[in-house]
Amino acid sequence: TKYILVSGGVLSGIGKGVIASSTGLLLKTTGLKVTAIKIDPYMNIDAGTMAPTEHGEVYVLNDGGEVDLDLGNYERYLNVTLSRDNNITTGKVYSQVIEKERKGDYLGKTVQIVPHVTNAIQDWIERVSKIPVDETGEEPDVCIVELGGTVGDIESAPFIEAMRQFQFRVGPENFALILVSLIPDMHGEQKTKPTQATVRDLRGLGLLPDIIACRLVSPQAIQPGTKQKISMFCHVGQDQVIGVHDMKSVYHVPLLLESQGIVNVLQRKLNLFDLKIPPQMV
Ligand code: ADP
Repeated sequence: TKYILVSGGVLSGIGKGVIASSTGLLLKTTGLKVTAIKIDPYMNIDAGTMAPTEHGEVYVLNDGGEVDLDLGNYERYLNVTLSRDNNITTGKVYSQVIEKERKGDYLGKTVQIVPHVTNAIQDWIERVSKIPVDETGEEPDVCIVELGGTVGDIESAPFIEAMRQFQFRVGPENFALILVSLIPDMHGEQKTKPTQATVRDLRGLGLLPDIIACRLVSPQAIQPGTKQKISMFCHVGQDQVIGVHDMKSVYHVPLLLESQGIVNVLQRKLNLFDLKIPPQMV
């Protein structure tokens, strides 16, 4: 299985879910079987006990799982049926580890966030990524893992550390990271500093982005100069910088990503299939 982690910097609610679903959809159109896992770094076991005014509507899965709205995006974009285990929360992981501790599974050991919680997270992702989710009943080729919250949060730290370890567990050719970052538009000037700071934070935590998805919360598309600057200061090629401006419909985002060559970049990193790589997009 190939894993694509989608994580966000600067602030939440900028379209990580839409970018994650759109990336999954593009890979699906190439014939790959795609599944998805959403990580929500809160202590609630599920979204069922949270006020919709605080967290958005609860999405109910076929198995009765009460989960984050993003799972609904995945089911619609990817035409799959997910289960409650496709939504991991801090609460679910801790309760599993504490239950094992009470049963004596770690007998003699000091149970810690590293390695016990981080191992539980990795085991969970590996197990769920292999569960068939479409009518073929076959194991998925690609698992999109969306990490909620933002890089640098206390809440997401055990998950970031788990994913840092995970890239070695599955091997670099099976793991890609898409960082979704905000590019503020100051009266036409696209600012890259928050993205530079986020990439620095991420690298300090042991993760390097393979793609930087630059979210411009404006109808203005990313400028070539902005891509060049991010490439230079964030240690990625220009083709690894992808602009995502406001679209009339979020269902246009897959084509926007495709037009900038995201599939080729992922193919190259993950050896997905034989595709001719077009000239570098600027
Ligand atoms: P996150 O996962 O970062 O919290 P979401 O993917 O849920 O963010 O998106 C947050 C909101 O922004 C949603 O209402 C979505 O419809 C909207 N949105 C996301 N991307 C775009 C885009 N490119 N153009 C217009 N609206 C968008």
